Amino acid sequence: MTHTATGKLPPDTDHADAAHDLAAENRALRARMAYLLEQAERNHSIMTRHQAFDLEIVGAGNFPELVGTIFRVLPVISELDSVTLTLIDEDADIRTVMLKLDVVFEDFPDLIFVETLDELGLDLARRTAYAPTPKPLLGMYDRLRHASTFPHAPAGLQSVAVVPLLRNKRIIGSLNLGSCDPTRFTPSLGTDFIEHMASIIAICLENVISNEMLKYIGLTDSLTGVYNRRYIDRRLLEEIARARRQQYPISFMYIDIDHFKRVNDTVGHGGGDEVLREVAARIKNELRTSDALARFGGEEFVVLLIDANLESAAFVAERIRASVAGSMITLSPELQLSVTVSIGVACLEVGMAEGDPEAIARNLIERADGLLYDAKENGRNRVISYRAE
Ligand code: GH3
Ligand code: MG
Ligand code: MG
Repeated sequence: MTHTATGKLPPDTDHADAAHDLAAENRALRARMAYLLEQAERNHSIMTRHQAFDLEIVGAGNFPELVGTIFRVLPVISELDSVTLTLIDEDADIRTVMLKLDVVFEDFPDLIFVETLDELGLDLARRTAYAPTPKPLLGMYDRLRHASTFPHAPAGLQSVAVVPLLRNKRIIGSLNLGSCDPTRFTPSLGTDFIEHMASIIAICLENVISNEMLKYIGLTDSLTGVYNRRYIDRRLLEEIARARRQQYPISFMYIDIDHFKRVNDTVGHGGGDEVLREVAARIKNELRTSDALARFGGEEFVVLLIDANLESAAFVAERIRASVAGSMITLSPELQLSVTVSIGVACLEVGMAEGDPEAIARNLIERADGLLYDAKENGRNRVISYRAE
């Protein structure tokens, strides 16, 4: 405290100042306290919503359900303006399997597939021996730099977080979060929470992808990649029920490669396998996406044609026969061979689908098989779709 020349205490202005300062400090502290309290309440509410979200994604039964939930719920509970998901899918295996399982990718415009790790937009160079996995990359949104991570960025996007999705230290993709608030994702922000969220999402993704892969393996023929018998047996029952409800015909083709034993004898079993793959591809090439092709075993294939009467099915069968017989199959530059197929075609006309679906399915397959036998008897390399009485 300073004294004046008269030795008296200074006038009361200093006291007034001090009291004023205290009041201001008090107000600031109160405001800070209110802010912290509000933050704590907000965090608690976010945590509760996230717990519900975690439960929902852990319970997702398949891939579309999981990604659908992420895109629908995460922006709401985390108050984000954009959420996208990038998955590494090196040989397009995930996409192939999902397409086979009828996943409609158009339903998920913010689901992005990339071939390599480098395309994720993470700072991989920042990895060290101590932190071998990259950290989330937080910062300002840059239209050019983030063009592939946020392909449909909403207007006004300001800050983003690209969070690696890790499974056993392997990066399987990234979860990309965007906000119109420039202060939402800044490089200095702690990332524990979003890393935790990403780790749960990564586990769920890996889980559903593995499950879908297993489902796919159980329904496909590993040699040719077309469906297997189990799939057709199941699908046929579904289609019989649907054909009955919607009143359209379905047709069934039984295809058998002619003299396939000779093929194996000439080019070996490996060459025979290659021929099976090529024949499958040529059959598939003549079909619509709604038709289902399966290898029934050995060198036999079947095709289920939806909403196709006998005439149109026989027309498709003839195209298949001509395509297989029409050009040689090349096994190597020096080794080419010709194969032919015989085909029996049967149809389940409208009104014929009444009764026990299992018996109807069995009957349809048996009729096509019987007509195939006729085709063999009549000289092979032919289509028979009706039995001359
Ligand atoms: P046909 O014209 O009467 O149908 O004569 P085919 O020789 O094709 O008749 P068959 O059905 O008796 O012979 C089928 C052959 O297919 C016998 C078997 O060695 C061969 N085969 C079955 N499965 C496979 C396979 O997965 N790979 C290969 N390479 N051959 C197979
Ligand atoms: Mg056979
Ligand atoms: Mg055969």
